Amino acid sequence: MDRIIGIDLGTTNSVVAFTDPNGVTEVIAGKDGDRIVPSVVYFPQGGDPVVGTAAKQYAVVEPDRVAKLFKRGMGERTFQPDGSPFTVDGKTWSPEELSSLVLRKLVQMAEEHFGEPVRRAIITVPAYFGEPERAATRSAGELIGLDVLRILNEPTAAAFAHGLEHAGQPGRVLVFDLGGGTFDVTIMDVGADGALEVVGTGGDRRLGGADFDQLIYEQMEQTVSKAGGNLAADPWTKADAYAKAEEVKKELSSLDSSTRPITAGGRPVMFSLSRAEFEGLIKQQLQAVGDITLYTLENADVAPADITTVLMVGGSSRIPAFHTLLADTCGREPTFSRNLDEDVARGAAVLATKLGGELNPRSQLAAIPPPVDTASHALGVTVLVDERLGTERNSIVIPAGTAIPVSREETYQTAAANQKQINVRLNEGDDEDLEFVRELGSSIGTFTRPVPKGHPIRVEMSYTADQLIRVKAFDGQDGTFLCEFEVERKSNLSDLEKKAARSFLASVDVK
Ligand code: AMP
Repeated sequence: MDRIIGIDLGTTNSVVAFTDPNGVTEVIAGKDGDRIVPSVVYFPQGGDPVVGTAAKQYAVVEPDRVAKLFKRGMGERTFQPDGSPFTVDGKTWSPEELSSLVLRKLVQMAEEHFGEPVRRAIITVPAYFGEPERAATRSAGELIGLDVLRILNEPTAAAFAHGLEHAGQPGRVLVFDLGGGTFDVTIMDVGADGALEVVGTGGDRRLGGADFDQLIYEQMEQTVSKAGGNLAADPWTKADAYAKAEEVKKELSSLDSSTRPITAGGRPVMFSLSRAEFEGLIKQQLQAVGDITLYTLENADVAPADITTVLMVGGSSRIPAFHTLLADTCGREPTFSRNLDEDVARGAAVLATKLGGELNPRSQLAAIPPPVDTASHALGVTVLVDERLGTERNSIVIPAGTAIPVSREETYQTAAANQKQINVRLNEGDDEDLEFVRELGSSIGTFTRPVPKGHPIRVEMSYTADQLIRVKAFDGQDGTFLCEFEVERKSNLSDLEKKAARSFLASVDVK
């Protein structure tokens, strides 16, 4: 059987799951029994890369040889806060390549579990990921020979796994996903037939558990410096303090205070933090999360009181201050999943089996329509607004939040007399100002004859369920085809780099 797996490729942790034809989903554990694989890669000197819990532990001993939080830089060249590339033993690793090592580990776990090769997967991404980040995620899979059937939005997967689609009641769901590196809020409609439709998304790509660890670490630094030590004096002490900061944070989700001994300059110093003090430390983040949630509701034209379920997802949503925030915002207690860390992968696995056509037609899941995703960013074209000044702006054709698949058309006019050609440029982003949008592609069309100024041009834009974007332009008067292009899922790596990465990755074994 050609199994299709669901993968939650997270910023801090990743999970792989599989749904059998009867609709039963299982999270696949590694040989060590771990179901959650830290998205951390350790490069031992002269050895194969190590992914997961063992790699996370090496972050303390050899921080320079360990890569983490690389999903934050997906679609870019680097992910390090200072903008420097991650280089080890003379090789620079892009976020895409590092992600492919994590994927390799997850696929290996699945192959060991089933005792046969696994070639196809659905991978989830934050709803607000734009085209370049989605392309990079797909490319990370392709680098290890994985056929990525679909890129699915994480909150959609979570709602799907949580069974919100077969709750039998239409309603409005707010998925609050606060992970290790990112914050993502999504508003979804649940139809009477169980169809899920995303109606609004918002978030912050650089807000999550790692920031809370950083704030606790800074407190630790102060405590140690008062005692005459310096936590940052060597990378080992610093990395050890970071690990302890995370422990303290997690403990404060269930206890009122937490204490840890930290070592600085060879002497132990006690560090204590109360839950109230912690909430004071993360005040700015609490405020930001509250503001983003309200803004997303407002943008989706949904009143907080209309939310029927608040679903908490992601490890950091265990922090009680966020429960209070959500309860206050929406006027109802949030819902927690028993499998908070596994829901996204579970949802991806369910959809994988559904799309793969291997679901038993009598199973409950077979009756439910697959979730409807939306365009997370607006798509538009560049138009000339002032010929004299040469001013151009972005004219939106498909607004953000539109359910996909979608096809829209818009008519524009030529800007100059005797125009022979047009240049159709596609942009991603909500802003009219071209400085704040990303150009995804362009194509030149030629008229059958020179046309006068103000001649109509019809632009058709479609966004498929597979999240492929196609643009076509026609002469608005006689309907002649002018040009078309499809946005290539361009990876950040050149073909040559991809080839090199592929053959390199084929030669390394991931531990
Ligand atoms: P995720 O990216 O969803 O796997 O979330 C991982 C993040 O959740 C990390 O920053 C963890 O430190 C954090 N986390 C996990 N458990 C807890 C907890 N009990 N309290 C607070 N944060 C937690």
